[in-house]
Amino acid sequence: MKIGLEIHVPLNTRSKLFCTCPTNFLSAEPNTNVCPVCTGQPGSKPMGLNEKALELGLKIALALNCEISPSFRFLRKHYFYPDLPNNYQRTSEPLGRNGKLGKVRIWEVHIEEDPGRYDLRKGTVDYNRSGIPLVEIVTAPDIGSVEELRDFLRTLYSVLSYLDAIHPEGTLRMDVNISLYDTRVEIKNVNSIHGAVKAVQYEILRQENLRRQGQEIKRETRHYDENHGITIALRTKETAEDYRYVPDPDVPPVDVGRDLVEKVRGEMPELPHERMRRFMEEYGLNRTVAWTLVLDRELGDFFEEMAREMGVEFCVEWCAKILRGELNYRNMRMKDVDRDEVVEVLRAVREEKIGKPAGVEVLRKVLDGEGRARDLLRTYTAPPLEEVVEEVIRENPEAVRDYRSGKKKALDYLVGQVLRKTKGVYDPKKVRERLEVVLRG
Ligand code: ZN
Ligand code: MN
Repeated sequence: MKIGLEIHVPLNTRSKLFCTCPTNFLSAEPNTNVCPVCTGQPGSKPMGLNEKALELGLKIALALNCEISPSFRFLRKHYFYPDLPNNYQRTSEPLGRNGKLGKVRIWEVHIEEDPGRYDLRKGTVDYNRSGIPLVEIVTAPDIGSVEELRDFLRTLYSVLSYLDAIHPEGTLRMDVNISLYDTRVEIKNVNSIHGAVKAVQYEILRQENLRRQGQEIKRETRHYDENHGITIALRTKETAEDYRYVPDPDVPPVDVGRDLVEKVRGEMPELPHERMRRFMEEYGLNRTVAWTLVLDRELGDFFEEMAREMGVEFCVEWCAKILRGELNYRNMRMKDVDRDEVVEVLRAVREEKIGKPAGVEVLRKVLDGEGRARDLLRTYTAPPLEEVVEEVIRENPEAVRDYRSGKKKALDYLVGQVLRKTKGVYDPKKVRERLEVVLRG
């Protein structure tokens, strides 16, 4: 299997690529972030190129180890669809080429304008998104499995989030090119990492079924239906000629001076791979744990902050294992979480106000939005361990006698009784120790 991707990244800029309209396309009322330029009014001309978009494009290209083009032009890519008022999309020549991320080669990075949003069912168009700057990243077909696809996209997302490159209201949108049996099929309209994985899994099944039935696999473009997790035939693939690319006479060629590249290089933040190596050295973590922590930028931040207060060992267990696992299970990232709530849970466990099992339960409820940590913790606060131990001993004279006469198994029973009464607040090991002390005395 060979998979190549074309990934669109909505850039984290305040204004659009060739006009000064704001970019909050979702939170604004439909068709309010618009002007003659981004709605393609007759006679309107693009304003100067958004410099922040150019800098973010360069940052992405550098982070993906690309060679930077000294200059590039904007082209008009023609097609006819209600979301494109100009009847062409402005799309740049590559500003970066021949890069690499892991073992996946990056063919090119370029900048383009986002089209508007066309609602097929209602027949309405919202042009708030029209003209928002995108970076498109085109990879070589170097991805060989579903696992590699997931790893690559997670790593790419991580790099982009360290660069602060993704618009907070946007998501990665991609086309997935997949060749299973030497026939290239393109899947459009994939809007998440999860969706890419699902679409490819579906496509593998579909093509295997066709082969089993002796049917041929067509070279075609398919549409990913996110609600049903399936791909649907769309049309046979256009060739580049269909788009009639021509240089846009309204936009002067962009010179990427050495100074600009050096300035951007100087502003590059610590990237995930660098941070992983630092975590390994600074905190003595192994590669797997370090990578787990840095992959989610906010989780890495959270770990560093908490480790100072609660110690590395405790935070590795709670951040890299427990919290990470619970987030993955819910398809969440640390940025989706109220971190102060999580801090309260961790502190309660660290200060032994509640045990680990209770801590995990409270954490789950916090992540599921079932209440505030403070209130949840209160319901998990049990009477003092000493009291419960006394009570259980009083209520179970037979088990106590068995234990004292050498039946060690009786202790397991007593531990179980204490845990039941305290809803898992206390650590079983601690309960066992306490029982042994009291029974021996
Ligand atoms: Zn505008
Ligand atoms: Mn594109």
